[in-house]
Amino acid sequence: MITFENVHVVYPNGFKGLNDISLTIEQGEFVAIIGLSGAGKSTLIRAVNGLVPYTDGTLTVGDTVVDPRNKAKLRRLRSRVGMIFQQFNNVGRISVLNNVLIGRSAMTPTWRSLLGWYRPEDREIAFQSLERVGIVDKAYNRAAALSGGQQQRVAIARVIAQDPEVILADEPVASLDPPTARRVLGDLRRIQSELGITCVVNMHHLDLARDYADRIIGMRDGEVVFDGPTAEATDAV
Ligand code: ADP
Ligand code: ADP
Repeated sequence: MITFENVHVVYPNGFKGLNDISLTIEQGEFVAIIGLSGAGKSTLIRAVNGLVPYTDGTLTVGDTVVDPRNKAKLRRLRSRVGMIFQQFNNVGRISVLNNVLIGRSAMTPTWRSLLGWYRPEDREIAFQSLERVGIVDKAYNRAAALSGGQQQRVAIARVIAQDPEVILADEPVASLDPPTARRVLGDLRRIQSELGITCVVNMHHLDLARDYADRIIGMRDGEVVFDGPTAEATDAV
């Protein structure tokens, strides 16, 4: 589903963010990227949807070659690749439901959706997404009024409302307390497995990755230093 072939990222200041990455992530896999701060996890994940342009090699999602210079192609790619961030990226002053509907308007950016008028089928999908993450009772609350765990569930609902093939999650539980982090990761794991979505998640903690991922990729200094099934990942990762 996602293939890196000798991918390099050199930042404008000359810093090597990724150094010759080659790997394949299969459809439906739940992969955790592990490594210290600065290892290149975020660079790797952001290269997949073109948020960070790669400078050499070939990166493909399904049959599509990621082309950071082709804005129209990038927009189509991003409609298939949902992204979740550490800071949730919700619009705090609008309702939870409208935050999830943003995931639908990414697919149908008409003037109606810009005004907040959505088709009944989009509202239906938004409610189903909220049900999947267990916060449908919060649909009419302002997003800012929710706890951290609930806010990240809003972000997950927004992404699944987009009906993505891939979910990229950049430190999705780093702002949550440990028990909440586990519940949110557990929800993400359950949902990607039910829907068959390929999921790549960055995290700091190997113990979390061990409990939720199929496969662990360890990174250091922009390179892959471990890649294998979760059971084979040791503390050396
Ligand atoms: P991680 O997600 O593992 O913490 P990152 O991918 O964010 O690591 O960063 C990897 C390295 O790339 C770090 O040393 C960081 O300082 C550097 N880096 C990130 N973004 C830029 C940028 N825009 N310009 C230059 N260097 C960057
Ligand atoms: P908060 O961010 O307010 O702590 P969480 O994100 O931890 O909320 O919890 C979200 C949902 O998970 C709530 O509906 C809560 O009832 C439920 N929940 C709380 N504790 C547990 C638990 N130990 N196991 C499973 N679900 C729980």
